[in-house]
Amino acid sequence: MIHYKTKEEIDCIRESSLLVARTHGELARHIRPGISTLALDSIAESFIRDHAAVPAFKGYQGFPYTLCISPNEVVVHGFPGGRILKEGDIVSIDCGVLLNGYYGDSAYTYAVGEISPEKKRLLETTYRCLMIGIAETKVGNTLGDVSWAIQQIAENAGYSVVRELVGHGVGKRLHEPPELPNYGKRGRGEKVKDGLVVAIEPMINMGNRFIVQEKDGWTIRTADRKPSGHYEHTVAVINGKAEPLSTFAFIEEALEKNTHNTTIIRE
Ligand code: MG
Ligand code: MG
Repeated sequence: MIHYKTKEEIDCIRESSLLVARTHGELARHIRPGISTLALDSIAESFIRDHAAVPAFKGYQGFPYTLCISPNEVVVHGFPGGRILKEGDIVSIDCGVLLNGYYGDSAYTYAVGEISPEKKRLLETTYRCLMIGIAETKVGNTLGDVSWAIQQIAENAGYSVVRELVGHGVGKRLHEPPELPNYGKRGRGEKVKDGLVVAIEPMINMGNRFIVQEKDGWTIRTADRKPSGHYEHTVAVINGKAEPLSTFAFIEEALEKNTHNTTIIRE
Protein backbone atom coordinates (compact mmCIF):
# COMPACT_ATOMS: atom_id res chain seq x y z
CA MET A 1 0.00 0.00 0.00
CA ILE A 2 1.18 3.50 -0.82
CA HIS A 3 1.50 5.80 2.18
CA TYR A 4 0.64 9.34 1.08
CA LYS A 5 2.55 11.83 3.21
CA THR A 6 1.32 14.77 5.25
CA LYS A 7 2.90 18.20 4.86
CA GLU A 8 4.87 17.61 8.09
CA GLU A 9 6.23 14.32 6.76
CA ILE A 10 7.18 15.93 3.45
CA ASP A 11 9.05 18.63 5.38
CA CYS A 12 11.05 15.91 7.16
CA ILE A 13 11.86 14.14 3.87
CA ARG A 14 12.86 17.50 2.39
CA GLU A 15 15.37 17.98 5.21
CA SER A 16 16.85 14.54 4.62
CA SER A 17 16.94 15.10 0.87
CA LEU A 18 18.67 18.47 1.32
CA LEU A 19 21.36 16.85 3.42
CA VAL A 20 21.85 14.28 0.64
CA ALA A 21 22.14 17.17 -1.83
CA ARG A 22 24.72 18.95 0.34
CA THR A 23 26.68 15.71 0.71
CA HIS A 24 26.79 15.54 -3.10
CA GLY A 25 27.99 19.15 -3.14
CA GLU A 26 30.86 18.14 -0.84
CA LEU A 27 31.70 15.17 -3.10
CA ALA A 28 31.63 17.38 -6.21
CA ARG A 29 34.49 19.43 -4.71
CA HIS A 30 36.63 16.28 -4.59
CA ILE A 31 35.75 14.52 -7.85
CA ARG A 32 38.91 14.46 -9.98
CA PRO A 33 41.27 12.10 -11.75
CA GLY A 34 43.42 10.38 -9.11
CA ILE A 35 40.96 10.14 -6.22
CA SER A 36 39.92 6.70 -4.97
CA THR A 37 36.27 5.82 -4.63
CA LEU A 38 36.91 4.79 -1.01
CA ALA A 39 38.15 8.32 -0.23
CA LEU A 40 34.85 9.70 -1.56
CA ASP A 41 32.94 7.26 0.64
CA SER A 42 34.75 8.41 3.74
CA ILE A 43 34.18 12.11 2.88
CA ALA A 44 30.44 11.41 2.55
CA GLU A 45 30.20 9.38 5.76
CA SER A 46 31.92 12.06 7.86
CA PHE A 47 29.80 14.82 6.30
CA ILE A 48 26.55 12.96 7.00
CA ARG A 49 27.47 12.05 10.59
CA ASP A 50 28.69 15.63 11.25
CA HIS A 51 25.14 16.71 10.39
CA ALA A 52 23.53 14.44 12.96
CA ALA A 53 22.30 11.97 10.37
CA VAL A 54 23.05 8.35 9.48
CA PRO A 55 24.17 7.02 6.09
CA ALA A 56 21.09 5.18 4.84
CA PHE A 57 22.81 2.55 2.75
CA LYS A 58 25.40 1.43 5.30
CA GLY A 59 24.08 -1.83 6.71
CA TYR A 60 20.99 -1.80 4.47
CA GLN A 61 20.47 -5.49 3.69
CA GLY A 62 24.16 -5.84 4.50
CA PHE A 63 25.49 -3.16 2.11
CA PRO A 64 28.88 -2.25 3.63
CA TYR A 65 29.38 1.41 2.59
CA THR A 66 27.87 4.90 2.76
CA LEU A 67 27.76 5.41 -1.01
CA CYS A 68 27.06 3.28 -4.03
CA ILE A 69 29.82 4.28 -6.48
CA SER A 70 29.35 2.95 -9.97
CA PRO A 71 31.88 3.89 -12.67
CA ASN A 72 31.37 3.49 -16.44
CA GLU A 73 29.91 0.01 -17.09
CA VAL A 74 28.72 -0.33 -13.48
CA VAL A 75 25.02 0.59 -13.42
CA VAL A 76 24.37 0.83 -9.67
CA HIS A 77 25.31 -0.60 -6.25
CA GLY A 78 29.07 -0.49 -6.87
CA PHE A 79 31.35 -0.81 -3.82
CA PRO A 80 33.70 2.05 -3.00
CA GLY A 81 37.26 0.73 -2.90
CA GLY A 82 40.77 1.17 -4.20
CA ARG A 83 39.64 2.00 -7.74
CA ILE A 84 41.18 5.32 -8.79
CA LEU A 85 39.01 7.57 -10.93
CA LYS A 86 40.65 8.60 -14.16
CA GLU A 87 40.14 11.28 -16.80
CA GLY A 88 37.24 10.34 -19.06
CA ASP A 89 35.40 8.16 -16.53
CA ILE A 90 31.78 8.72 -15.69
CA VAL A 91 30.77 7.71 -12.18
CA SER A 92 27.32 7.38 -10.66
CA ILE A 93 27.28 8.22 -6.98
CA ASP A 94 24.13 7.30 -5.09
CA CYS A 95 23.64 8.67 -1.58
CA GLY A 96 20.94 8.26 1.04
CA VAL A 97 20.55 9.53 4.59
CA LEU A 98 18.26 8.92 7.54
CA LEU A 99 17.48 12.10 9.49
CA ASN A 100 14.74 12.57 12.10
CA GLY A 101 13.18 9.24 11.13
CA TYR A 102 12.88 9.93 7.40
CA TYR A 103 14.98 9.01 4.39
CA GLY A 104 16.27 11.04 1.45
CA ASP A 105 17.81 9.51 -1.69
CA SER A 106 19.55 11.10 -4.67
CA ALA A 107 22.08 10.04 -7.32
CA TYR A 108 24.20 11.96 -9.83
CA THR A 109 26.52 10.69 -12.54
CA TYR A 110 29.68 12.79 -12.50
CA ALA A 111 32.05 13.34 -15.38
CA VAL A 112 35.69 12.93 -14.32
CA GLY A 113 37.55 15.65 -16.20
CA GLU A 114 36.93 15.70 -19.92
CA ILE A 115 34.64 12.90 -21.16
CA SER A 116 33.90 11.66 -24.68
CA PRO A 117 31.01 13.19 -26.65
CA GLU A 118 29.33 9.75 -26.59
CA LYS A 119 29.36 9.61 -22.79
CA LYS A 120 28.26 13.23 -22.53
CA ARG A 121 25.25 12.53 -24.74
CA LEU A 122 24.36 9.49 -22.64
CA LEU A 123 24.46 11.56 -19.46
CA GLU A 124 22.50 14.47 -20.96
CA THR A 125 19.84 12.05 -22.12
CA THR A 126 19.67 10.28 -18.75
CA TYR A 127 19.36 13.69 -17.07
CA ARG A 128 16.54 14.53 -19.48
CA CYS A 129 14.84 11.23 -18.55
CA LEU A 130 14.85 12.31 -14.91
CA MET A 131 13.48 15.77 -15.78
CA ILE A 132 10.66 14.38 -17.92
CA GLY A 133 9.89 11.88 -15.14
CA ILE A 134 9.51 14.76 -12.67
CA ALA A 135 7.36 16.80 -15.08
CA GLU A 136 5.04 13.85 -15.77
CA THR A 137 4.55 13.05 -12.08
CA LYS A 138 1.42 15.16 -11.82
CA VAL A 139 -2.22 14.75 -10.91
CA GLY A 140 -4.14 13.51 -13.95
CA ASN A 141 -1.37 11.05 -14.87
CA THR A 142 -0.72 7.51 -13.71
CA LEU A 143 2.67 6.11 -12.80
CA GLY A 144 2.56 4.25 -16.12
CA ASP A 145 2.51 7.62 -17.89
CA VAL A 146 5.66 8.64 -16.02
CA SER A 147 7.43 5.36 -16.82
CA TRP A 148 6.38 5.56 -20.47
CA ALA A 149 7.66 9.14 -20.85
CA ILE A 150 11.08 8.21 -19.43
CA GLN A 151 11.33 5.19 -21.74
CA GLN A 152 10.47 7.29 -24.82
CA ILE A 153 13.28 9.78 -24.16
CA ALA A 154 15.83 6.99 -23.63
CA GLU A 155 14.85 4.78 -26.53
CA ASN A 156 14.34 7.63 -29.02
CA ALA A 157 17.96 8.57 -28.32
CA GLY A 158 19.03 5.00 -29.15
CA TYR A 159 19.64 3.87 -25.58
CA SER A 160 18.05 1.17 -23.46
CA VAL A 161 16.31 1.11 -20.12
CA VAL A 162 17.36 -1.21 -17.30
CA ARG A 163 14.29 -3.22 -16.30
CA GLU A 164 15.31 -4.99 -13.12
CA LEU A 165 15.91 -1.84 -11.05
CA VAL A 166 13.26 0.80 -10.49
CA GLY A 167 12.37 4.02 -8.66
CA HIS A 168 10.47 3.70 -5.40
CA GLY A 169 8.48 5.38 -2.66
CA VAL A 170 10.54 7.06 0.09
CA GLY A 171 9.52 7.83 3.66
CA LYS A 172 10.12 6.10 6.96
CA ARG A 173 11.61 3.35 4.82
CA LEU A 174 14.29 3.80 2.16
CA HIS A 175 12.31 1.72 -0.31
CA GLU A 176 8.54 1.54 0.00
CA PRO A 177 5.59 1.28 -2.40
CA PRO A 178 5.05 2.22 -5.14
CA GLU A 179 7.64 0.85 -7.54
CA LEU A 180 8.36 3.27 -10.38
CA PRO A 181 9.89 1.50 -13.40
CA ASN A 182 11.66 3.52 -16.10
CA TYR A 183 9.65 1.75 -18.80
CA GLY A 184 5.94 1.15 -19.01
CA LYS A 185 2.59 1.68 -20.61
CA ARG A 186 0.49 4.82 -20.60
CA GLY A 187 -2.55 4.77 -18.37
CA ARG A 188 -1.30 1.86 -16.28
CA GLY A 189 -0.56 1.82 -12.58
CA GLU A 190 -1.58 4.00 -9.67
CA LYS A 191 -2.91 7.50 -10.20
CA VAL A 192 -0.56 10.29 -9.12
CA LYS A 193 -1.97 11.98 -6.01
CA ASP A 194 -0.92 14.77 -3.65
CA GLY A 195 1.27 13.40 -0.86
CA LEU A 196 3.02 10.86 -3.09
CA VAL A 197 6.76 10.84 -2.38
CA VAL A 198 8.92 8.90 -4.82
CA ALA A 199 12.53 8.59 -5.86
CA ILE A 200 12.63 8.83 -9.65
CA GLU A 201 15.84 7.21 -10.89
CA PRO A 202 16.34 6.38 -14.57
CA MET A 203 19.22 3.94 -15.23
CA ILE A 204 19.99 4.20 -18.94
CA ASN A 205 22.46 2.02 -20.86
CA MET A 206 24.40 3.09 -23.94
CA GLY A 207 24.22 -0.47 -25.30
CA ASN A 208 21.60 -3.11 -24.62
CA ARG A 209 19.43 -3.26 -21.52
CA PHE A 210 20.90 -6.42 -20.01
CA ILE A 211 22.73 -6.40 -16.70
CA VAL A 212 24.73 -8.87 -14.64
CA GLN A 213 25.51 -8.97 -10.94
CA GLU A 214 29.14 -9.32 -9.90
CA LYS A 215 30.28 -12.01 -7.45
CA ASP A 216 30.26 -9.54 -4.54
CA GLY A 217 26.47 -9.92 -4.55
CA TRP A 218 25.86 -6.19 -5.09
CA THR A 219 27.63 -4.59 -8.05
CA ILE A 220 25.37 -4.40 -11.10
CA ARG A 221 27.10 -3.83 -14.45
CA THR A 222 25.99 -3.84 -18.06
CA ALA A 223 26.24 -7.25 -19.73
CA ASP A 224 27.94 -5.69 -22.78
CA ARG A 225 30.26 -3.55 -20.57
CA LYS A 226 29.12 -0.35 -22.27
CA PRO A 227 28.57 2.70 -20.01
CA SER A 228 25.39 3.42 -18.07
CA GLY A 229 24.01 6.70 -16.65
CA HIS A 230 21.95 7.27 -13.50
CA TYR A 231 20.31 10.37 -12.00
CA GLU A 232 17.88 10.39 -9.09
CA HIS A 233 15.76 12.89 -7.20
CA THR A 234 13.37 12.35 -4.32
CA VAL A 235 10.19 14.30 -5.22
CA ALA A 236 6.86 15.04 -3.53
CA VAL A 237 3.55 15.73 -5.23
CA ILE A 238 2.24 19.02 -3.83
CA ASN A 239 -0.73 20.91 -5.30
CA GLY A 240 -0.88 18.48 -8.20
CA LYS A 241 2.77 18.68 -9.28
CA ALA A 242 6.03 16.98 -8.37
CA GLU A 243 8.42 19.19 -6.45
CA PRO A 244 12.00 17.91 -6.16
CA LEU A 245 13.01 17.62 -2.49
CA SER A 246 16.61 16.91 -3.41
CA THR A 247 18.55 19.30 -5.67
CA PHE A 248 21.68 19.30 -7.85
CA ALA A 249 22.30 23.00 -7.10
CA PHE A 250 25.13 22.27 -4.62
CA ILE A 251 26.78 19.93 -7.16
CA GLU A 252 26.62 22.53 -9.92
CA GLU A 253 27.98 25.24 -7.65
CA ALA A 254 30.91 23.02 -6.61
CA LEU A 255 31.66 21.78 -10.14
CA GLU A 256 31.83 25.35 -11.42
CA LYS A 257 34.72 25.94 -9.00
CA ASN A 258 36.31 22.50 -9.52
CA THR A 259 39.17 23.08 -11.96
CA HIS A 260 39.64 19.31 -12.44
CA ASN A 261 36.16 18.90 -13.77
CA THR A 262 35.11 20.86 -16.79
CA THR A 263 31.94 18.98 -17.68
CA ILE A 264 28.72 19.87 -15.87
CA ILE A 265 25.82 17.78 -17.05
CA ARG A 266 22.64 19.73 -17.60
CA GLU A 267 19.59 19.21 -19.72
MG1 MG B 1 19.50 6.26 -4.65
MG1 MG C 1 16.68 5.13 -4.89
